[in-house]
Amino acid sequence: MSTKTAPPALALSNLHFAYTRRQPDVIAIEALRVEAGERIFLRGPSGSGKSTLLGLISGILEPRSGEVEILGQAMQTLFSSRRDAFRAAHLGVIFQMFNLLPYLPVGENVMLPCRFSEERAKQAQAAGGEQAEARRLLERLGLDAKEVWSQRASNLSVGQQQRVAAARALIGKPGLILADEPTSALDADSRDAFISLLKEECTASGAALLFVSHDGGLADQFDRALDLQTINTASVKETV
Ligand code: ADP
Ligand code: MG
Repeated sequence: MSTKTAPPALALSNLHFAYTRRQPDVIAIEALRVEAGERIFLRGPSGSGKSTLLGLISGILEPRSGEVEILGQAMQTLFSSRRDAFRAAHLGVIFQMFNLLPYLPVGENVMLPCRFSEERAKQAQAAGGEQAEARRLLERLGLDAKEVWSQRASNLSVGQQQRVAAARALIGKPGLILADEPTSALDADSRDAFISLLKEECTASGAALLFVSHDGGLADQFDRALDLQTINTASVKETV
């Protein structure tokens, strides 16, 4: 993989956001760059804006001003339907909670990105087929694919659901994976194992990883670690 010529997986510039018009900025980031294939740890205490930032990158939230560029494509220059399609194809997201469609079987949950993006479907096809690839990822992330495949997502423990969410984020090889405290329900050993599996799968598919957590102890498992409070100049108060 050539990281020299590839555009950055993510580039933010002069990004500002607040939840209401009258509220001061919650996010004010002059610049943040994640290179293609790079695995970044972003630390910040509770309430510092980690989930808000991932919401801005994933398109759940609209910035007040500034640019979000994903794999060389500036989001603000696209019409919203094209923007959604672009994100569906190139972003894999592991949320903090409410990751899965609870009534849908695990297998369907993992294959969901292939329904929303032809590109993801094609990539999964090239990797041996959607089902085979979904099963492989579930196994790689430490689940018994056969056992969980047909179960409703809501039947699984939170830790298992986080693994399913990771498999879903990875299917179809998106170029950027966003992970919002995905190990909060795991004990220390399973947490470290999960992170190394996630990193291995990102390396295998060439995806960059932006992993956010309040737990600074995880930092040395990544290529680079950043402190949100040093790059975010908005003065947000802690909520804990
Ligand atoms: P973190 O993920 O680091 O814990 P958040 O991004 O959830 O932090 O929150 C950052 C700040 O934005 C906090 O002050 C929080 O209270 C506020 N905030 C989060 N979500 C909302 C919302 N939906 N409406 C208004 N304020 C919010
Ligand atoms: Mg959060």
